[in-house]
Amino acid sequence: MEVSPVEQLFAVFDGTAAILQEELQCTYLEALAETGENIFQNTILQEELSEITVKRLEKSYNLVAEKNFLSEEYRKAFQLAILKGMKEHVQPNHQMTPDTVGMLVGYLVNKFVEASSFRLLDPAVGTGNLLTTVINYQDNRQVEAIGIDIDDLLVKLAYVNANLQSHPVQLFNQDSLEPLFVDPVDAVVCDLPVGFYPNDDRAAAFDIRAESGHTYAHHLFIEQSTRYLKPGGYLFLIIPNGLFESEQAANLHAFVKENLNIQSLIQLPFNLVKNEADAKSILILQKKGENINPPKEALLVNLPDLSNGAAVDRILQKINAWFAENK
Ligand code: SAM
Repeated sequence: MEVSPVEQLFAVFDGTAAILQEELQCTYLEALAETGENIFQNTILQEELSEITVKRLEKSYNLVAEKNFLSEEYRKAFQLAILKGMKEHVQPNHQMTPDTVGMLVGYLVNKFVEASSFRLLDPAVGTGNLLTTVINYQDNRQVEAIGIDIDDLLVKLAYVNANLQSHPVQLFNQDSLEPLFVDPVDAVVCDLPVGFYPNDDRAAAFDIRAESGHTYAHHLFIEQSTRYLKPGGYLFLIIPNGLFESEQAANLHAFVKENLNIQSLIQLPFNLVKNEADAKSILILQKKGENINPPKEALLVNLPDLSNGAAVDRILQKINAWFAENK
C-alpha cells in the first residue's frame, strides 16, 4: 500500500522527535519544535548530540529534503504529531483547533473578506493550526498574518509550523490582553480561551469588565480584538454556545450592540466535542464604521454532521443565498 505524503512526513516528525526527546531529556512537544526547526533550517542545531544520533537524524531528514511537500501536507503531519504530544500533556484550554473548524473558518474568511491582500490577526494563536489552515484556504490572496500567545512552547510550535509551510507570520509571545504592537487588521480569527482572566487591574481598562471579581477572558478577547480591527473589519470567533447567557453577558451584549454588527452564528455539530456542554459555534461580527451597514438579517445556521454530504450541500446553498441577498 502506498504511504501518503502526510504519513511520510508524520513518520519523520514523530521518529526524530522521539530521538531528540530521549537525547535531550525533554518533552515530546519540545523535541517536536526542535526537530521542525532542524528540518526548516536544513541542519542539526543541537550541539550536544552523539555522532550516531546525528547520522540517524540526517537519514530521516534526507527523506524530507528529497521531496517537495505542500503547505497543507506539512500542516496536517505537524498537527498529527502535536496531537500525539498533547495527549502526553493534557491542558484543556490549550487545545488545538480541529481541522474541520479551521477549514470552515478558512472558507468563511474567503467569502467575507473581499480584498486581494489583507491583514489577519489570531490573538490566541496556540500551535498556529487555525491561523495557517485559514491562510491555506485563501487561494492566491496575499495574507499578512500576526499571531500572539501567552504560552512560549505553543508560540515556538506556531513559529516552526509557519516556517515549514513557508508562511511569513509575525509572532509575539505575550498576554494578548496587554497593549499590542499591532497595526489595525482587516480580520481576526480566534478560538477563544474560555475562563476567568486573573489580572483585575488590567481588566479595569476594558468597557466589558465585570463590576466585581474576575472578568471572563473570552469577553475581554472580544473587546481587545475589536480595538485592533479596522472599521468594516471582521471577527471570526470560535465561542462556547452559552456565550450570551452567562451572568456577565449584559456587558457583552452592550459592547457588541455599540461596536459591532452580528453577521452570522454557525453552530458546530456536537460530534466535534466530547460533551454537549463543550459545544461551540462560530460567531462572525463586523466592526461598525462609516458606510458600514448591518445585514438585513443575520445568517443563523445549525451545521449538520459534516459526513452527511446532502445536508452539508443544503447548508452551503443557504450560505450562498444569504451572501447573494446581503453582500
Ligand atoms: N487556535 C489555536 C490552535 O489552533 O492551536 C488554539 C487556541 S486555544 C483554544 C487558546 C489559546 O489561548 C491557548 O493557546 C492559550 O495559550 C492562549 N491564551 C490564553 N490566555 C491568553 C492570553 N491572556 N494571552 C494570549 N494567549 C492566551
